[in-house]
This record gives sequence, C-alpha cells and structure tokens, in this order.
Amino acid sequence: MDHKNIHAPHGNILNTKGWSQEAALRLIMNNLDPMVAKDPENLIVYGGKGKAARNWEAFDKIIESLKELENDETLLIQSGKPVGIFRTTRESPRVLIVNAQIVPRWATDDIFWDLEARGLTMFGQMTAGSWIYIGTQGVLQGTYETLNALARKVYHSDNLESKWFLSAGLGEMGGAQPLAAKMNRCTSIIVEIDIEKIRRRLRDKYLDTYTDSLDEALKLKDESIKNGKHLSIGLLGNAATVYNELVNRNIIPDIVSDQTAAHDINLGYVPEGYDIKSFQKFREDNPEEFKRRVYESIVREVNAMIYFKNHGAAVFDYGNDIRTRALEGGLKNAFDIEGYVPAYIRDLFAIGSGPFRWVALSGNPDDIYKIDDAIIKNIDDRHLTDWIKLAKRYVHFQGLPARICYASYGERERIGLMINDMVKNGDLEAPVAIGRDHHDTGSVASPYRETEAMKDGSDAIADWPILNALLNAVSGASWVSVHHGGGTGIGNAIHSGFVIVADGTREAEERIRRVLNADPGLGVIRHADAGYESSINIIKSGARFKSPYFK
Ligand code: NAD
Repeated sequence: MDHKNIHAPHGNILNTKGWSQEAALRLIMNNLDPMVAKDPENLIVYGGKGKAARNWEAFDKIIESLKELENDETLLIQSGKPVGIFRTTRESPRVLIVNAQIVPRWATDDIFWDLEARGLTMFGQMTAGSWIYIGTQGVLQGTYETLNALARKVYHSDNLESKWFLSAGLGEMGGAQPLAAKMNRCTSIIVEIDIEKIRRRLRDKYLDTYTDSLDEALKLKDESIKNGKHLSIGLLGNAATVYNELVNRNIIPDIVSDQTAAHDINLGYVPEGYDIKSFQKFREDNPEEFKRRVYESIVREVNAMIYFKNHGAAVFDYGNDIRTRALEGGLKNAFDIEGYVPAYIRDLFAIGSGPFRWVALSGNPDDIYKIDDAIIKNIDDRHLTDWIKLAKRYVHFQGLPARICYASYGERERIGLMINDMVKNGDLEAPVAIGRDHHDTGSVASPYRETEAMKDGSDAIADWPILNALLNAVSGASWVSVHHGGGTGIGNAIHSGFVIVADGTREAEERIRRVLNADPGLGVIRHADAGYESSINIIKSGARFKSPYFK
C-alpha cells in the first residue's frame, strides 16, 4: 500500500471477511488520511505523538491480518504492533488493543520515550491507537459542551452572547476552540505560533480570520461584540507573550484557557522568543536549556491565567496538563486554576453522558445526514438535538463522514439501535461504526482531568477503565482498547475505549443492546460509588443493571 496518501475504502463492498474487520480496516486507514491526521507520514494522528500503528511494517501487517481475519478470530495489538491471532467466538471482539502500558514505577516520560525510541512501545493518545479518531469534530463537541456548561453555570444563560474567549493552540484538538466558541455565540481570540495551523483552520472553516497583531485582534474582537457577531480570530504569536501583554494592559477576557500540547514538554510547547522552525533546532542543539526555557514560558503563561482569574475571568485548564508543567517549573499556586471536568463536565459524566460518535463506513455524507434527521425526529432531548442541528450546519467532514454528540445513559442505546435499524432497512448505504472517545464517564482514571477532584477522593483509582474494557469485551464490542497516558501524558492516565459495528443484523442488535447499556452504565456506577446523587438516582429509578449498594 502507498503510505503517502491513505484513504479508507468507501461503499458497501467488503475487503475483509466481515463488517467488524472491515470497520477496523477503514478506521485505521481513516486515522491516517491526510485530511484527518496531523503527520500521516510518521503515523501520527493527533495530540503530540499519538500514533495509529507502531511503524509502517506494523501497519502493513495490521491491514494484512484484518483482511485474513475470520469471523471467530481475534487479533491482538501490543502498542501498535499486531502480535497474534487467536480463535475466540463470533461474538468476541475482532481486535483487542493495548497501548503504552508500562509498570507504574517506570511510567515516567524519560523511560517511556526512551522505550518508544527503541521501537518497543507506542503512544496511542486516546483515539489514535484505538482507531476511532474522527478529526477535529471529535473535540469540537466536547469544547462546545464545556463552553455551554460554563455559560449555564457562570452566566446562567444557554449561550455566551457578548462574551469573549482567549485561548491558545490550533492543533488537532485545539483547532476546535474557535468554532465551538462561535456555536455558543462567543467571540474568540486563539493564539497560535504556527502559521500553517492557522491556514489549515481557515481552510476547514473552523476559524474566520487571522492577524499577527494583538492590537488588530483586539479591535476585531471589540467590533465583533459590538455588532453582535461571533467572530473567531487566530492570532499568530506565542501564548505566554500575548497573555502577559494583556496583563500589562490590564485587559481581562471573560473566559480563558489554553490548548497547546503542554503535556509534552519535549515537543508540545514553543518557548517565548522562538518560532515554529527555530524552536526545533534549539531543542536539538541544547535540550536541557530548551526544557528550562519551556518551563519558564509555561510558568509565565499560567501566572497570567491566574491573574485573569483573580480579576474576574472564568479560567479553566482544558486537559493538557499545563498546570502540572507550571508546578514543575516552580509556580506553587498553578492549581488555583480549576480543571474543566470538575468545573463543567462532571455533572454530565455522572449521568453517563459523554462523547458518543458514529462513522459512516460508506463514506457517504448522506448516511450521516439521514441519522441526524432521525435523531432530531425521534430523540426527545433538546440540548442534544440543538447540537445536531448546529453540527449539521457548521461541521466540515474530514475523512469518513462522522457525527459526535454527548449522549447519556439510555440515549446511547436508543441511538445505536436506531442506527442498526436504519442499516437493516436499507436507509443507509453501508454499516456504521459506533464508538466514543476514551475521555468518558466510566472509562478513564486521570487525576488531572477526567477524575480530578472526585467527591470521594478516588481520583487516581484505575480499576474502572480496566473493568470498562473487560465489560465491553465480554458484551461483544467489535474492538476494545486500553491505553496509558492519553491527554495528560505518561504516568497520568489509564483509559479504555470500544467500537461496535451496526451492520443491520440481529446479532449486531443484541451486541449493541449489551454494549451501549454496559459502557455508560459502568460510568453511572463509577460516579454513584463516588457519591454523586444524580448517578444514584439513575440506578434507583430503574437502570438496566443492578448495584448491590443502590437498590
Ligand atoms: P497539537 O500538538 O496538535 O497542537 C498544539 C498546538 O499548540 C500546535 O499547533 C502548536 O503550534 C501550538 N503551540 C505550541 N506552543 C505554543 C505557544 N507557546 N503559543 C502558541 N501556540 C503554541 O495538540 P492537540 O491535539 O491540539 O492537543 C492539545 C492538548 O490538548 C494536548 O496536550 C492534548 O493532550 C490535550 N487534549 C485535550 C483534550 C480534551 O478533551 N480537553 C482531548 C485530547 C487532547
């Protein structure tokens, strides 16, 4: 296969022996589509160095294995490398993926990245190595939900009209910020050091305009608010420099965050005084001095964020570990900034709600639009259907057409069964892959993000994602993954994911019924166990699972 220009096959003709294998084949290829991936030539999908396969030899062997895989066999992936095929059952997952696991005492950046450089492991981020990344839309919805929850909590409104949002980073995840702000009727200035990233977001219509002048950006922002527009402005520059310049001028944004890849101290953050090219050379020539300068800049940026917070802004850490890096750099009060999960998302996780998604394996956008319409017609949840309408209007597909929404316990099963019925009835051109981010209700232990400040202090307890993966496997997901280090970096998170294929068969219906009950159900149990009332109420009012503690 040509590794330079990978595109998933489209249509309804199988290249493999079954739709689960076919979905895995199409989705690993989709993860590396140049329209989807950050650096496809190096197999990097998103989030620093999150990869789809260990190397090109491993990728070719994965494709070859999926093509040969029988409908009662399971392929094992060990950190991006296919290592074995076992006879299991028809209802077992066709693929089991474990990425970047490392014994806890060894789980440091230095040791992990040394092992990675020696070709022994791979960083899979969350959906890169588990083959269900769908481009920037994936995080668009999460960012939309975060800002929307902020609007409700801070401003007691369902939008952010006349407010402005300052953030940084227009990479694979961060690129969603300007559009998510716009969908919440909010003006935004997003600082980005790399002009190519700005151009890409302008091309994909995730960003309206850009400038390299802070004065110009502020002028555009003021006009946007005055005229009731919700302009998104890319500002070419360094976040630490821009944030501090605003502090010097005493200009306080309404909302502040950052989505540079600060979790990765070696590659993810450009120190002040360097551009996207010169920083690489600096790093290679003098790695120790480089690190020192990165820490110095991060400390300055986070300090400015705390200043904004102390002067009335709503400031949140958006899951890139920037607070930890600032703390490591000597800023003792870095954690004065709250994480976005305890601040805004926890209430959703507690009811089993999280980033649910589906991908049209046909490659036909109409399949997604038909599912959109069916959801708008049949799902009685205005928040969800409002989002679907906005997504239909604003989202520009990358690679295979896909849709994401925050759906709760109960809703996910209803949507999954509805999609399977649509495939069965011939309403859609081909089967649909249904999955989710690892960043979800019961599938992650990450004390600096998803499980920060749990009510019972169970932030670092990592039994839940393992139980989640085991449960999804025995419930009959098409593939299941367990990763380490996604989002907040090595040593900081264990998380799991799954994909289930709706191919319109009776067997798929049963498996969807089991998986889409079990997966968010475990999230409800995890939060009930930690003492969240809304979760306990769901169990007591008749969930499709039992709990020995809440009857
Ligand atoms: P990325 O590497 O694709 O993009 C980071 C961007 O930041 C790049 O475009 C880079 O040029 C820019 N940048 C770096 N230093 C800068 C500086 N000093 N000033 C201005 N711009 C700078 O990473 P990504 O995939 O966008 O992820 C961003 C972060 O978000 C990561 O740490 C990732 O782990 C985390 N993340 C968060 C979520 C979530 O749901 N909140 C989900 C996944 C990942």
